[in-house]
Amino acid sequence: MNIKYRCIECNRESPQDFFRLKCEESDYSCFDIFYEEKEHSGEVRLPVGSEDLIKLGEGNTPCISLKDNFPRINDLICKLEYFSPTSSFKDRGSSILISAAKKNGVLEFAEDSSGNAGASMSAYAGHAGIKAHIFVPGTTPLSKTDQIKMFGAELHKIPGPRQNSTDAVKKFCKETGIPYISHNYNPFFIEGMKSFAYEIYEEYGELVTDIVMPVGNGSLTVGTFKGFNELKVAGKIKKIPKLHCVQVKGFSPISNRSNNIDWEFDTSSSTLAGGIAVSDPPRINQVIQCIIESEASAIVVDEEDILNWHRKIAKLGILSEITSAAVFAGVESLINMNEINEESVVLVPVTGSGLKDLSNVMI
Ligand SMILES: [Zn+2]
Repeated sequence: MNIKYRCIECNRESPQDFFRLKCEESDYSCFDIFYEEKEHSGEVRLPVGSEDLIKLGEGNTPCISLKDNFPRINDLICKLEYFSPTSSFKDRGSSILISAAKKNGVLEFAEDSSGNAGASMSAYAGHAGIKAHIFVPGTTPLSKTDQIKMFGAELHKIPGPRQNSTDAVKKFCKETGIPYISHNYNPFFIEGMKSFAYEIYEEYGELVTDIVMPVGNGSLTVGTFKGFNELKVAGKIKKIPKLHCVQVKGFSPISNRSNNIDWEFDTSSSTLAGGIAVSDPPRINQVIQCIIESEASAIVVDEEDILNWHRKIAKLGILSEITSAAVFAGVESLINMNEINEESVVLVPVTGSGLKDLSNVMI
């Protein structure tokens, strides 16, 4: 396949360069991958050939219905992403990103994460024989940091808010010359997320009207939009489901800007929903575009509601990460706002396993 890079800020096209993270100096000028071939079979388009794919059994996660528990909407389908090799949805992206890294001759790299992407990248890197340095906030739950270490990466714990890990990894890479292979900047990761959309289409056709997602950096939102858009261009679907965005109070740059509300990060903010504790996402404009084009809503939920839902769904047999429970609080808000109703077939990803941060839960 022939692929090129396109800057998400200025739209300028350039040849693909795996190690180039930005178009300009601005942190927001990330790249998007596009395919030059017009014809499309309706199968997911990937920037890595099947012979070069590094796989650990990611994707094809099961779905269950909580229809009886949400009588005010037509259906609530949970796609259980914790049935993934490292127990989170990030494995979809890591498979493609590490496959591309291997193909580009990478032997060692560094990356920053709130924990899940770090564990995932560590696993795929280990399988590919690549050494990984993973930078995480000091508050990352032990089960995630242990996972990172068990898969063979070198763990760098950085005190302070999530942004400090990003600053530290950039400094480390500059000083050592080790490449920074960021799952947030590098567009190969996003391409791996598209399979989420294809699987929903394969299982439900055009039945799903709304997808409610927890949004930190927004890779799942962007990847899902791209996947459905490919299906639309291929003539398989007429309409992309609404891709609603749920953020937590204190960490809501995307929801605020979507609703024309000023955003300024208060450094004293904290949340147990670590996967969405992102104050300055580089792909913010791209994520907002996906929300607008799918005619969806961007909302903010309270920490307390997330924690309540975390317990409620556990009683239904779904032990999710705290972050994942934000979508159930989001569904409740969207019902109350009348954004979704008795006609809506709503799907939520349960993005990560509850075993990853059980130590943060008061039981
Ligand atoms: Zn640009």
